Amino acid sequence: MTTAILSALPEEQSSLVQHLAHPQRLMHAGRAFWLGDLHGRRVVLALSGIGKVAAATTATALIERFGVARIVFTGVAGGVGDGVQVGDVVVAQDYLQHDMDASPLFPRWEVPGYARSRLVCDVALSALLLGAATACVSSASGQFGLKSSAQGGSEAPLHRAHHGLIASGDRFVSSADECVRLRTTLHDAGHDVLAVEMEGAAVAQVCHDYGIPFAAARTISDRADDTAHVDFPLFVQTVASRYAEHMVLAFLQKLSN
Ligand code: SAH
Repeated sequence: MTTAILSALPEEQSSLVQHLAHPQRLMHAGRAFWLGDLHGRRVVLALSGIGKVAAATTATALIERFGVARIVFTGVAGGVGDGVQVGDVVVAQDYLQHDMDASPLFPRWEVPGYARSRLVCDVALSALLLGAATACVSSASGQFGLKSSAQGGSEAPLHRAHHGLIASGDRFVSSADECVRLRTTLHDAGHDVLAVEMEGAAVAQVCHDYGIPFAAARTISDRADDTAHVDFPLFVQTVASRYAEHMVLAFLQKLSN
């Protein structure tokens, strides 16, 4: 059984590539795919690309060309929910496309043809990933340069792993106004969103179509507000890449096949 590990950004993937035994790099659909073994498990590492279409293409290639049995996605995201802070991790329970709007033909956010707006992640895989994320954040408080780079404080912050709804769309949400609007509109319709990013919902839809189990964990790199673009690059380099590495390795150790 081959497990696909998808990363959104190269910084998140590079340490995993270094851990790969018997690495083999293959090009397909203009993308690089790394095949090999991680902790004795057969894996394919791939970059999703940025945005929903790029991520959907990568996910389809992983399934069609590489025959993967499951897809696990690590990346970064903007924290939108109450108490979802920089340095926390959100494991997706389900995904919604916040920029999907075929109203009045379909209800707002409903994916035409799917009769729903939210696509759920695999329960068992998500539970394993949540366990790995929880272990990672509790051992990470005060490590990985988090205090100095992202928080700036002298106290070691206590980080949390959350489990809930993540919204994806083809926008980097980087203003407090937009973030509040997005969160309030979704909340008023019963969608309590914890984080926002640009790829996960597309991968969830592809996995739904093929019947492939999917789970995703996103490290919070910013609060999707006016400082999001400032927080972002340093955080990815210093923290998110190490979180991704620790979570994926812990997750693979717990897999039963
Ligand atoms: N610096 C990168 C571009 C990053 S785009 C480059 O130059 O290539 C932002 C990435 O982080 C996307 O993969 C998205 O999923 C995630 N992300 C983090 N914070 C986000 C936010 N506030 N809004 C939307 N996506 C966010």
